[in-house]
Amino acid sequence: MTNRPVTAVVQKLLRALLPRACPGCGESLGHSAGLCAGCAASLTVRVESHSMLSNTVRPHLVVLGQHKGLLRRAARELKYSGHRDLAGVLGQALARGVPPGWGIQAVSAVPMHPERQRQRHFNHAEMLGRALADALELPYLEALARRRHTAQQARKSGSERSGNLEGAFVPLPEALELGGPLLLVDDVMTTGATLIACRDALADHGMEQVYYAVLTR
Ligand SMILES: [Zn+2]
Repeated sequence: MTNRPVTAVVQKLLRALLPRACPGCGESLGHSAGLCAGCAASLTVRVESHSMLSNTVRPHLVVLGQHKGLLRRAARELKYSGHRDLAGVLGQALARGVPPGWGIQAVSAVPMHPERQRQRHFNHAEMLGRALADALELPYLEALARRRHTAQQARKSGSERSGNLEGAFVPLPEALELGGPLLLVDDVMTTGATLIACRDALADHGMEQVYYAVLTR
């Protein structure tokens, strides 16, 4: 007989007692928080002008790099551990790349499915967004709500469903009343479909000043 709750408690205890490893390189974190000093120092940030998110060539996306190596491991750790210190280090790195000229008024993140957030107890994109807002000394706001799957969506296969994000996001009043650019945050950008769906939901309600920040693409 397996006793899952006890196993989980033991694992939690072990994690608390054992020295933490840096999610970037596996070495001891020592007194560092989130990432070791070497990994944190190796983070760079850039602004991109080409992506699926913009129909014109213009700076609109802040990104730390490609989805491999240290960044891939850090993104995975953030997603599954929801580690606040790690979100802080990554958020600060992204903040260094946000051009002051964008005039960002607030930061928000892609909301998670309500069911999944209930299981996970945290939204890693929101943790990253809040860390980024803190680093920029800007307010964090909930710009969008994510609708539950409709019965029609639930009947479709996984791949069909991921391509069907139309109507998945609903803008919230605070975002529409912002009166200035919003910085929308997600952890990883692959096809860009999620951020595009968020952008379109905001644009449908007249909110078109949106910039983006992701860890990797
Ligand atoms: Zn490291």
